[in-house]
Amino acid sequence: MPCTSPGCTDLEAGTITHAVVYRRRTLTIDFVPAAVCPECGEARLTEETLEEITLLLQELPPDAAGTSGASGASKRLRYSRGS
Ligand SMILES: [Zn+2]
Repeated sequence: MPCTSPGCTDLEAGTITHAVVYRRRTLTIDFVPAAVCPECGEARLTEETLEEITLLLQELPPDAAGTSGASGASKRLRYSRGS
């Protein structure tokens, strides 16, 4: 799978830190598997990984993204596959 930027080569398998906004909080997920361009750093997630992230977010307890009064606070999670 090639990178979309001109002059770049193929993407390599690696992991990235992926930030998502969920329930108005910013969640940072470490160790997300992705295809990463060694030239420009572009990362691409697979459909499967995006689904896993969605499941990960849905399984969070309501207060997992922070406590009340900490609006805007970010939370770090670690990517893990369900089941
Ligand atoms: Zn690139």
